[in-house]
Amino acid sequence: MKSAKSDIEAFRMHGNVYFVGSSDVSVHAIDTEEGIVLIDTGYPYMYEQILDSMASVGLDISRVVALIHSHGHYDHFGCTERLKALTGAKTYISRTDNEIVNGTLDLSWAEELGFDRLPTFDCDVLIDPGDVLTFGSTTVRCEAAPGHTAGTLAFFITSPSDGGFFTAAMHGGIGPGSMSRAFLEKRGLSLECREKFFAGLDRFADEKVDLVLGNHPYQNKTPDKLAKTKAGESLLDPEEWRRFLDFARKYVSDYIAKEA
Ligand SMILES: [Zn+2]
Repeated sequence: MKSAKSDIEAFRMHGNVYFVGSSDVSVHAIDTEEGIVLIDTGYPYMYEQILDSMASVGLDISRVVALIHSHGHYDHFGCTERLKALTGAKTYISRTDNEIVNGTLDLSWAEELGFDRLPTFDCDVLIDPGDVLTFGSTTVRCEAAPGHTAGTLAFFITSPSDGGFFTAAMHGGIGPGSMSRAFLEKRGLSLECREKFFAGLDRFADEKVDLVLGNHPYQNKTPDKLAKTKAGESLLDPEEWRRFLDFARKYVSDYIAKEA
């Protein structure tokens, strides 16, 4: 039985961007004039943790208006049904990964994560690459970042702060497990997804990003960011995105090299 408290304290990262996930998987809240946007909803057992984390940073769960998913793996949409039932928020996912969450394709990674039930939900809004979602003065630009799943998205979130704007970004999936030869062959999928993954990293090289969000906390050193925040340091770093892309490239390249 998992605790109702997250093992990473919730905190405001910068401006209206909050971390409300756990060490297992990230959940981020964006507090906009039109309501709160959640990026991903975690594992099913994280429901109470998310409610507790949001309350601890003064975010009212009833103000959640959007549940936006990075990709169609169960660790990122595990609380979607319950959060939607609680708040009435609209759900969003890429048109491509909707095939997973609506049950057409059995690629939700639920089996690999140890869940029996094939999880599905009916998504309200299907995102195409390049779509820009607007919530008050915050915009979420959604770009294709395929590889980890065919419909993985990257998000570029621009919000007001300090009289200007800043951009937080998340690559929606860099874990190599779902690009492994064993997984792809078992599911009859092509190894081409790896080429698409690296091409996506190349496309993002020139993006101007001030704050990197992790799809999982290891990707952006979330606990270090919490410590910096507690020490009163800003998390804005215009070089971090470049370092993240290098890390992602090496992480997946090393995995593929070991497998060969
Ligand atoms: Zn995944």
